[in-house]
Amino acid sequence: MAAKRDYYEVLGVSKTATADEIKKAYRKKAIQYHPDKNPGDKEAEEKFKEAAEAYEVLSDEQKRVRYDQFGHAGVGGAASGGFGGGGMSMEDIFSQFGDIFGGHFGGFGGFGGFGGSQRGRRVNRGSDLRVKVKLNLKEILNGVEKKIKVKKYVSCSHCSGNGSENGNSTSTCSTCNGSGVVTRVTNTILGQMQTSSTCPTCNGEGTTITKKCSYCNGEGIVRDEEILSIRIPAGVAEGMQLSMSGKGNAARRGGINGDLLIVVEEEQDPNLIRDENDVIYNLFLSFPMAALGGTVEVPTIDGVAKVKIEPGTQPGKVLRLRNKGLPSVNGFGKGDELVNVNVYVPENLSDKERKWLEEMDKSENFIPSKTERRKVFDKFKRMFD
Ligand SMILES: [Zn+2]
Ligand SMILES: [Zn+2]
Repeated sequence: MAAKRDYYEVLGVSKTATADEIKKAYRKKAIQYHPDKNPGDKEAEEKFKEAAEAYEVLSDEQKRVRYDQFGHAGVGGAASGGFGGGGMSMEDIFSQFGDIFGGHFGGFGGFGGFGGSQRGRRVNRGSDLRVKVKLNLKEILNGVEKKIKVKKYVSCSHCSGNGSENGNSTSTCSTCNGSGVVTRVTNTILGQMQTSSTCPTCNGEGTTITKKCSYCNGEGIVRDEEILSIRIPAGVAEGMQLSMSGKGNAARRGGINGDLLIVVEEEQDPNLIRDENDVIYNLFLSFPMAALGGTVEVPTIDGVAKVKIEPGTQPGKVLRLRNKGLPSVNGFGKGDELVNVNVYVPENLSDKERKWLEEMDKSENFIPSKTERRKVFDKFKRMFD
């Protein structure tokens, strides 16, 4: 690589030039060597890049100080993201200093479109619609197909959605000749510049309506209802959002439909509490059942399950029914049902019942021994470790 020229020399300014003078000098060089004015000229391209590199350093106060002190070594390498190696690419220059050209040069196609946004005919897009779907746990367990009525804008059938009478009363926009874009030439200090903007006559659509469709008043859309069938996958949860592409509102005068967003609402189950993919059931045993053991039925998401109770089951015990929970929404694994054991203490007693209990209370065996108390205590303590 050839030795670098002095940056002040490149821009043709003195070492004491003000920031404004540097900017003006760069602008002059950038226009002189602009690739749009020198198509295919390699030397001009090099000079264009060289000026950009000089400006990148001299327009930055800190870099300029370092450059004044240490020369190119002070600002080389990593200091400026890509300089010192292969130099700045054309894309870099336009993305960093594009604003100095005051918009963009017209007809800049030769450089991969970085000469400004390539605006064309605008395509309308309908708005998204949001609906809520209420699901119970059983539906979440298996997944479900839901039919819902959606009120929305649909394409007008009388004009096929283009808003003109019978769909054929349009003409090419005379302002933009159908391109949807108007180009303006302005004189600036950089010389003549072209700027393009959306055509104000047709709003970028390229056509104008000569006679409005009387059915939709020229909008191309009408209010209607649609019955949609929505497939909800198993394992969804409150607040999750599904989307159906293109099932939202139709766009004005033809275009792309918006999306339909389906928000999941979970109905509270009368028995079960959901905890992610597990469900929890609060079981109340009678004191005799807890002491004697036996079999009880507990509700599950889609029915009942028989659960064996060991004799001497203490309240606080958690029984786990494997795979009786909900599937994970991404299809891996299934949760459990956790049965939380309580022992019900009766609140209203008949005389007969009171006598039984008074009899029972005489039994030493109904009060936990020291070792049993210890056992319960240790178990309780572990819950807090
Ligand atoms: Zn137009
Ligand atoms: Zn219509």
